[in-house]
Amino acid sequence: MKLIFERSVPGRRCSILPACDVEETPLPESLRRAEAPVLPELSEQDLSRHYTELNHHVHGVNCGFYPLGSCTMKYNPRINEEMAALPGFTGIHPLAPAHTVQGCRRVLELAQQYLCEITGMDGMTFQPAAGAHGEFTGVLLIKQYHDARGDKKRTKIIVPDSAHGTNPATAAMCGYQVVNIPSAPNGCVDLEALKAVLGDDTAGLMLTNPNTVGIFDENILEITRLVHEAGGLCYYDGANLNAVMGVVRPGDMGFDCIHLNLHKTFSTPHGGGGPGAGAVGCKDFLKPYLPHSATLDGVGHIQVRAFAGNFLVVVRALAYLLTLGREGVPEAAQNAVLNANYLMRRMAGTFRPAFDRICMHEFVLDLSEFKKETGVSALDVAKTLIDYGMHPPTMYFPLIVHEALMLEPTETESRETLDEAAEIFRKLYELGHKDPEYMHAAPHHAQIGRPDEVQAARNPILRWTRA
Ligand SMILES: *Cc1c(COP(=O)(O)O)cnc(C)c1O
Repeated sequence: MKLIFERSVPGRRCSILPACDVEETPLPESLRRAEAPVLPELSEQDLSRHYTELNHHVHGVNCGFYPLGSCTMKYNPRINEEMAALPGFTGIHPLAPAHTVQGCRRVLELAQQYLCEITGMDGMTFQPAAGAHGEFTGVLLIKQYHDARGDKKRTKIIVPDSAHGTNPATAAMCGYQVVNIPSAPNGCVDLEALKAVLGDDTAGLMLTNPNTVGIFDENILEITRLVHEAGGLCYYDGANLNAVMGVVRPGDMGFDCIHLNLHKTFSTPHGGGGPGAGAVGCKDFLKPYLPHSATLDGVGHIQVRAFAGNFLVVVRALAYLLTLGREGVPEAAQNAVLNANYLMRRMAGTFRPAFDRICMHEFVLDLSEFKKETGVSALDVAKTLIDYGMHPPTMYFPLIVHEALMLEPTETESRETLDEAAEIFRKLYELGHKDPEYMHAAPHHAQIGRPDEVQAARNPILRWTRA
């Protein structure tokens, strides 16, 4: 497809400006360009076709199935976008006097109240702009707590190997030594390994639950009890809360603080670089350490972002919660879990799950056997799926499963869509045995096939420059 600059024809226009009805005042010479800017020149129709063509090359949730793992809800109801676009929410200034923005303060308060109820926490901040930012804030709460007690010997944070990659990164960013512990063969935390590393130098434990292989840790109460016994605090990575929301509460499992990804579970589109909100909730005793935000009384010790964070993300979350209500929230979680388990079972006889047990909102396939038999890798399967009109699952994550494909159908997909997806996977399984070469070369019908991923990551060319 041509770039918009390559479609450009000098002098072609699609804008008709209204006649100037004020006296023209030329810009001072010092502010004027020496040369006209290089902008594409197109007719309205060519412009429209250009963007429509671009649109056709993008696979979104409006085009088809999108089982990308670790991203939770993908279809974000339009009504929530409409709420976030209301001028009363978009037109406010963060320094507006409180009595002029009572509606907005009420949104923050209600969202905080509902999300605290869902998580079993007592206080919450919406300042952090992303999940990782929320983790950073949450671990700083833990740090402030120990510091305030003069407990300086707690220098270590325990992170199971099934945690999201941001967990160890966060602990290190907060100045802690990261202690990695292995998973047991069933995908849960190995309790003996945990006991072996707990001690009076333990500041806390960060647990991703459900973990990155989509499993709810069956020893969760025992885990938080052991950590507390050692004097540490428990952090819950709740980025993917839609597997459990309204069903069980991290606060009841013994966790002291948590972050949620409002941009994964509560109706803000995830991806594309934001904006997001990594809401951080905590128990009463940690509330004094929360960052100051619009709804909290008094000024906290830390400030991780200006004002109340990405406010419109909170508006979407509240609109979503109000539409689902007390019955709808757990129902969404149950459907997410049901859909994942249904798809995993429908694949029986083809690709094997890495852990053959009931999963939560997502599951991981282990293609290492398949690769041994056929030479076709998880990457080849992901690339071939593009030709079948499906967005590939998350690949090569988590790292503890080789040749991993991580699938997450989400709560909104119908049984028919899941059946079709299982059928496509079956076809690819057979294709791998029959014509591996075809799969090595896939995709065959996409605009971009296999970019050099190292180059694309290290030297991305994101804008056109004149030759
Ligand atoms: C996505 C995710 C994060 C990080 O969230 P960002 O908003 O991308 O920073 C952390 N933990 C888990 C389990 C996640 O799925």
